[in-house]
Amino acid sequence: MTENTNVLFTIFGATGDLAKRKLYPSLFRLYRKGDLSECFAVIGTARRPWSDDYYHEVVKEAIASLEPTTEEAEKFASHFYYQSHDVSDTSHYTVLKELTNKLNEKYQLGGNRLYYLAMSPRFFGTIVTQLKESGMLDTDGYHRVIIEKPFGSDFKSANELNNEINEVFAEKDIYRIDHYLGKEMVQNISAIRFANNLFESMWNQRYIDNVQITLAENLGVEDRGGYYDQSGALKDMVQNHILQVLSLLAMEPPVAFTEEAIRNEKIKALNAVRLYSEEEVYTNFVRGQYTKGKLGDKEFADYRHEPNVATDSTTETFVAGKFLIDNFRWSGVPFYVRTGKRLTEKGTRINIVFKQVPINVFRSSTTEVGTQNELPPNVLTIYIQPTEGFSMTLNGKEIGQGYSTKPVKLDYRNTAEMVENSPEAYERLIFDALNGDSTNFTHWDEVAQSWRVVDRIRAAWDKQTPDFPNYAAGTMGPQAAFDLLAKDGFEWIWQPDKWYKERKLL
Ligand code: NAD
Repeated sequence: MTENTNVLFTIFGATGDLAKRKLYPSLFRLYRKGDLSECFAVIGTARRPWSDDYYHEVVKEAIASLEPTTEEAEKFASHFYYQSHDVSDTSHYTVLKELTNKLNEKYQLGGNRLYYLAMSPRFFGTIVTQLKESGMLDTDGYHRVIIEKPFGSDFKSANELNNEINEVFAEKDIYRIDHYLGKEMVQNISAIRFANNLFESMWNQRYIDNVQITLAENLGVEDRGGYYDQSGALKDMVQNHILQVLSLLAMEPPVAFTEEAIRNEKIKALNAVRLYSEEEVYTNFVRGQYTKGKLGDKEFADYRHEPNVATDSTTETFVAGKFLIDNFRWSGVPFYVRTGKRLTEKGTRINIVFKQVPINVFRSSTTEVGTQNELPPNVLTIYIQPTEGFSMTLNGKEIGQGYSTKPVKLDYRNTAEMVENSPEAYERLIFDALNGDSTNFTHWDEVAQSWRVVDRIRAAWDKQTPDFPNYAAGTMGPQAAFDLLAKDGFEWIWQPDKWYKERKLL
């Protein structure tokens, strides 16, 4: 344990969903493992007038599923302090400062402070400005800020927000969360690539036909309709998670596995993603919105009748697209991406589709010479969630007389026990922020470039009225998403809808 874990967390938005579902359990897991010493304290702030005792009950309830003993839960919760606080009221920061100083003494925190902004981004600027003006940052020790997504709603707003935060915190002290970067298998992408010559030597346009990234959700918008209807799938998922995963897949090998070296390569990869013209957007990106649908015996309402969604909404709940990366490694290799709500199955996975052998010598005698090789491609699949692992599909000989080939899948999955015992995304990320490691956070240059890419798509789309709704809940999106690959001679490797269709359940 390092002395860095002597720290005061101040959580803005302490009564919110994120704090309860993710932050308190993650802090408890760190505490239980000893990654957080007894020298830590948490100030939870939000508007509700809670007492410390009530706050302790909330924290204990949030960690109940981790089955702490009563004593453990009590001891952990005793580190939490609640401060009713309206972030726009400057006088509240004076009170907050007093409590901060008191806890700094009590727990011997050496002035180390981590501010977690778990609330609406429209308050981020106000909060950091007030932290500075109240003098709360004028102490020894480190001062870091963890910021939740979304970081802006386009390049312009992100840039303004960034300038505001930069007035107070240096880039090295800003930890922009993209919780996908805390996931085990996203971190594993680098191990798969850089620890296996088999893959790294083939990781380029000579051997790879196309790359597919799918982030599918089977849920609808649930109670986030108000936010989602303003955002849509492109901004909610593509700008951050998808482009982050893409940059890890596409980057050059870093000279060392250090924060700076990795970040530099990721930024270079993002800079090589083609900025589309309007015409290119229409050709390479499609959007969708779900209407009601049925999957097996489950029935789903249409998006426009979800709570807090406009009944004439033109917000996309699905995006599929093709990114092109204009550099030596990837020239001509499509990176297909897709994400959406109310799809057939929940799952995040990556498929790396390798090129065919030059000639299929197993071609049957009836196949005309010169026609398409009919062997299935070799595919490396990386499963990110809900299962974690990877598989490789190869072609082998079918057992028996004669000589036919059949695909064989070499499959590795982390066991349920391994997954259970491995840290949660938020737990890893908080641990990293405590230790000053920002490898798995997004740097401003990455955020900025991702917005530039996405802004082009949004601007082209905003010029046309989409023909929504265009896919039934429970399917894998509109027909256009399948046509997008078909016109290039490819198809989506992952088609969970097929199973249901074959059984007439969809
Ligand atoms: P939430 O609406 O549940 O909570 C918001 C919190 O902000 C509450 O504690 C509320 O009391 C507080 N608040 C609002 N106005 C305030 C004011 N004027 N002064 C003081 N406090 C005020 O939101 P959430 O779901 O917890 O999300 C918080 C942030 O995390 C958002 O930026 C969101 O986009 C992001 N996020 C959330 C999730 C999630 O799973 N919930 C996932 C990813 C990102």
